[in-house]
Amino acid sequence: MEPQRIRLLPEALINRIAAGEVIERPAAVVKELVENALDAGARRIAIAITGGGVERISVSDDGAGIAEADLPLAVERHATSKLGDDQLIRITTLGFRGEALPAIGAAARLAITSRPAAADHAMTLRVAGGRVFDPVPAAGPPGTEVVVSDLFFATPARRKFLKSPRVESEAAEATARRLALAAPEVAFRFEADGRLAFERPAESRARRVAALLGTLEAQALLPLEMARGRLQLAGFAGAANLTRASGVAQYFIVNRRPVIDPVLRMALRIAYRDVIPAGRHPVAALYLDLPAEEVDVNVHPAKTELRFREPDAVRGLVIAALRAALAAPIGVAAPPPMRFVTPSGRAAAALPSTRHFAEACLPLAAPPAARQIAPDPAQMAPEGAAPSPEPHPLGAPLAQIWDTYILALAADGALVLVDQHAAHERLTEETLAAEWRAGGVRAQPLLLPAVVELPQADVARLAGASAELARFGLEIEPFGREAVLVRALPAVLGAPDPGPLLRDLADELAESGEAQALAARLDAVIGRLACHGSVRAGRKLGGDEMAALLRQMEATPRAATCSHGRPTFLKLSRAEIERLFGRR
Ligand code: ADP
Ligand code: MG
Repeated sequence: MEPQRIRLLPEALINRIAAGEVIERPAAVVKELVENALDAGARRIAIAITGGGVERISVSDDGAGIAEADLPLAVERHATSKLGDDQLIRITTLGFRGEALPAIGAAARLAITSRPAAADHAMTLRVAGGRVFDPVPAAGPPGTEVVVSDLFFATPARRKFLKSPRVESEAAEATARRLALAAPEVAFRFEADGRLAFERPAESRARRVAALLGTLEAQALLPLEMARGRLQLAGFAGAANLTRASGVAQYFIVNRRPVIDPVLRMALRIAYRDVIPAGRHPVAALYLDLPAEEVDVNVHPAKTELRFREPDAVRGLVIAALRAALAAPIGVAAPPPMRFVTPSGRAAAALPSTRHFAEACLPLAAPPAARQIAPDPAQMAPEGAAPSPEPHPLGAPLAQIWDTYILALAADGALVLVDQHAAHERLTEETLAAEWRAGGVRAQPLLLPAVVELPQADVARLAGASAELARFGLEIEPFGREAVLVRALPAVLGAPDPGPLLRDLADELAESGEAQALAARLDAVIGRLACHGSVRAGRKLGGDEMAALLRQMEATPRAATCSHGRPTFLKLSRAEIERLFGRR
């Protein structure tokens, strides 16, 4: 066998290969072009895309511009104005690899029109599929406009991996939002298919965060600020009662660069671990500033990943700052007092023995329940709040502890502890699933339709799935571009707040991608619905509500564990308790 000859690849091919790493989708082009504008000191940046960015992307800025003589260099590989000869350990600009423009020029049609403030006219340089044309004089204000059209026309293989224009457009918008969060002192405007998605003037960080994170988030952001050594952290943490079904609302900005970083993500998770329910994700916008040599951004061509020189110090600071913010009064309520009730609903007489304990045990004055805890009172076991002694396996309720657990005494003497939220969530799920199987979830029309404000992309997603959502008992219709009108909710959920519920479903739709029907993710959808309709930990329950919950658990298949596999109740027999006390 003859050895294959080795040859150097032609420049155009090298650029196309590199293009695959730097710009894998339109959002990446937006990112590179906006970063260039920021590096050029722009005060205003306007972004417009059409056809998901595949047809056209334009980014214009009022920055320093490119000198006429340098224009051809800007589209040459490894040519940059930003990196000194041995500066790689201390990078202060967003770009530095000199790869973006040549990569874009290799894969698409590129036109750069630029005019430094001192020049009396602009110049336009065109590149198409790697072929560079001579610059020609043009009209244009000081600054730079970059137009990219027919993205990936020269690399059709890459084009095949793109999602629908809508999905690509959303990704590009999300990228622009992240960059806008990172540079609040710069005015931003983003337009997709002629429609303005967001526009912000130069403003404070707090205003930018509140404006870009969403209405619900803005109401529950806790400011934070902490410094340790040369690390400085500032930003906003979502209050504990504000969570999302995924990590979509977590923003990390390191030295003005939006990043995806496992160290920061993990720190966020740890800080919230005992504060929010498992499976939920916190909301946060965190800005970390540290000396440039403390962090390596040259890990990946897209520069969204980084490596900290001292990850432990970073992790420690993030956790400490978040914990301090979450400990502030508005974030967490004081633990609720314990309450003891007899099965008949009257306060227990002789249970508490110490003064302190007695004070913690308030008589249960049977407050009118906000709503019936059992999903459907008609389905409840007829025994309802039966008197003790109980023939039922889960027994009769004795007390509600920390407004979270039901303490019950079974007929055989065993103590039963029920996690009220986990148990009720499971019951709701089973009911929803049964109704779904029987042809559709029962809807409860609202007396007054509710208007829920949501980001445009979420409105579009929900509207696109409205026929399917109707089968889940959720009747909605778009209400302008940034709101939906809710006409009915699944009856079994009682009266949940439709806002968080719709947002969770929008997240679910975003995650599953548009190709997949909701029905194909039945468990996930039902899980999300049930979570909103279920009685929360922290809600006070009346004696009959507790008894109804226990009876329904006995009648429901799979009620012993919640959908995450955790137990919904624990049982301690008298023998086990006596063993624990060493009586046996
Ligand atoms: P990098 O940003 O890594 O230097 P790019 O390929 O993105 O590489 O850009 C090459 C060069 O073109 C930059 O170093 C900069 O000098 C110039 N440039 C690109 N975009 C702009 C812009 N919007 N304004 C001014 N100069 C620009
Ligand atoms: Mg660049």
